[in-house]
Amino acid sequence: MGKRRPLVAGNWKMNGTRAESAALLDGIKKGVSASSKAEVVVCPPFILIALVAEKLAGSPVAWGGQNLSVHKSGAYTGEISGPMLKDYGCTYVIVGHSERRTLYGENDVFVAEKYGAAQATGLMPILCIGESLHERESGQTEAVVARQLDVVLDKHGIGSFKTAVIAYEPVWAIGTGKTATPAQAQEVHRFIRQRLASRDKTVSESLRILYGGSMKGSNARELLAQADIDGGLIGGASLQADEFLTICRAAD
Ligand code: PEP
Repeated sequence: MGKRRPLVAGNWKMNGTRAESAALLDGIKKGVSASSKAEVVVCPPFILIALVAEKLAGSPVAWGGQNLSVHKSGAYTGEISGPMLKDYGCTYVIVGHSERRTLYGENDVFVAEKYGAAQATGLMPILCIGESLHERESGQTEAVVARQLDVVLDKHGIGSFKTAVIAYEPVWAIGTGKTATPAQAQEVHRFIRQRLASRDKTVSESLRILYGGSMKGSNARELLAQADIDGGLIGGASLQADEFLTICRAAD
């Protein structure tokens, strides 16, 4: 993890009242200092971003969206655009989360468009990729991850990864309590980095690749100790300040 600044991002998904979120943010703020080595980000539901921006202003914790529209503005009922996220101080946005892919039909091409829309707005996309259980069991993990990556690479180029983060999230490990073993995760992380290195070694070496999938306080240290794991994208465990901070400290 040496040369890359670790990053721990919390994906709150569709959780939290204003009061619960304010309490969670107070807890997180207490445990993150400006001298922390790891960068810490929270990604709340859209409706809570204003509150988060207010609570985190001036703190070392950054915030981002969980999704964005491919359009900047216009007649797109129910959508939120990159410029809107930017206007609320977001610096990151999750793109292509497996829940968006499987529940809302986002395919690789659409995800690549969202990645481009994020970068066009000056937001750092956290591009999520990962295989399903069936794909892993049928030996397709590398092929799936390569396909998801190549669509973005072919559309936006390797240079775009200077301002992006990848999250490797095996779908079978998300919200299931089943974590990839550190060796399983490292194997795919190394594959991702090597694939990018074949286009540009410098970009590949500086890119942060997060692991996501039931990471929690008790398993974070082992996962984060792997050479190509540069942080975590955290779902369930990001909703409890203590648990989230334990992961942040492990990343430090
Ligand atoms: C996620 O949603 O990105 C995630 C990793 O969820 P969980 O940590 O709950 O598995």
